Amino acid sequence: MSKYIVIGNWKMNPETLGEAKLLFRKVANITQKLKRTEVVVCPPFPYLSVLQSKSKKFFVGAQDVHSESSGAFTGQVSPTMLKSVGVTYVIIGHSERRALGETDALVNRKIEAALKARMTPIVCIGEADHDSHGKYLSFLTEQIKNCFAGLSRADLSKTIIAYEPIWAIGKNAKGAMDSRMLHETVLYIQKVLSEQYGRAASQKARIIYGGSVDESNAKDLIENGNVIGFLPGRASLSAETFGAIVRAVDSKK
Ligand code: PEP
Repeated sequence: MSKYIVIGNWKMNPETLGEAKLLFRKVANITQKLKRTEVVVCPPFPYLSVLQSKSKKFFVGAQDVHSESSGAFTGQVSPTMLKSVGVTYVIIGHSERRALGETDALVNRKIEAALKARMTPIVCIGEADHDSHGKYLSFLTEQIKNCFAGLSRADLSKTIIAYEPIWAIGKNAKGAMDSRMLHETVLYIQKVLSEQYGRAASQKARIIYGGSVDESNAKDLIENGNVIGFLPGRASLSAETFGAIVRAVDSKK
């Protein structure tokens, strides 16, 4: 396990396998020189069994997973299926899935299923609004408690938490959360986790940030944001921009 991690969420992009292969190859090249950072890309399902990496620094992830390992679930893909084609990471509870009705309870079952298949869950949490009265903090508390209900300290250590405030997604770099606010919010997330897992385990929790990260804000966010990496969306579709983000993380002081 590397110290830092950058995970590219390709969402429903690119449109063809040819383009996906090209982007994948370019990202693979970027990862060759990394010292302390691992990179994951999460392409759409149809590309997953084609895009393979044997590198110990470059991995393939899925964007969602079902909570059961097989059965009558039309259109769904199970953790065991993903694992059998070499996928080792999976994004769970992205806000775009939650907008389609995914609940914390389902996210909780998906995390358990992914861990059972020995995959690393990337669990997305984050508030829709950052109100000045701090109501978003109670929202985050509930979300964390529900998503991690019944999960052990060992489970937490095998999980990545992606803090993605919904209001900061899809903006320009100025619309992203600033590093000071990110630092404070990560401290708060650790405090909530400490109630269930104790101080030491919560401080070791692997927390990353997503929401309009690009080459212009990555350095400040990684240096001062109290996170160990990022989950970029749009920026992961350009090997140049993604590469700049990865390098900013790998050269963190
Ligand atoms: C996202 O949707 O998870 C995301 C972080 O997107 P973007 O980087 O494009 O804001």
